[in-house]
Amino acid sequence: MNRAELLACPECDLLQSDSTVSRPRKALCARCGATLYQRHPHGLERTVALTAAALVLFAIANSFPILSLELQGERTDATLAGAVVALWSQNMQLVAALVAFTAILMPLAELAALAWLLVPLRFGLRAPQFGAVFQALQFAQRWGMVEVFVLGALVSLVKLGHLANVEPGIALWSFAALMLVMAAIEANFDPRDLWQRVAPL
Ligand SMILES: [Zn+2]
Repeated sequence: MNRAELLACPECDLLQSDSTVSRPRKALCARCGATLYQRHPHGLERTVALTAAALVLFAIANSFPILSLELQGERTDATLAGAVVALWSQNMQLVAALVAFTAILMPLAELAALAWLLVPLRFGLRAPQFGAVFQALQFAQRWGMVEVFVLGALVSLVKLGHLANVEPGIALWSFAALMLVMAAIEANFDPRDLWQRVAPL
């Protein structure tokens, strides 16, 4: 039986065969040189560990203040959820919805989907609704924008510094760490490896 399978280049769409017998760590497109896939040893285990770390950081980032502001002797702490509620009540419903969607809902959906798919797979089991959750994961990865939020928060921190005494809170550091951990997840997560592990189950 011919066990070679076809791979399409994500950049130039060239179809090329990939031998499942001697699969290299990294495969490049024969025509344009784009990376077809890159395998990471223990990629699944690493992604599970990083997802657990990211969930802890996400919980901290949403439970503690992002910044403390002191103006005319009055001190205010702002959490992310508190900021969303404040934006909503100040007639900025669209901004509030965007912040809640891209900085809270989608990152949480991404981490939850990763845990749902990968933890059972780690024990050789296929999670229920695997395909649907995988699609939800791809959607959440496109819409999760923790890095944009961290950048925005840093810029406003610098700008507010002229007007009031502003101190970054523990949640801001957690968000910054979460941004790095989520980047590491996306670097380690290999959908190809995922589907190859699921296929025999
Ligand atoms: Zn190509």
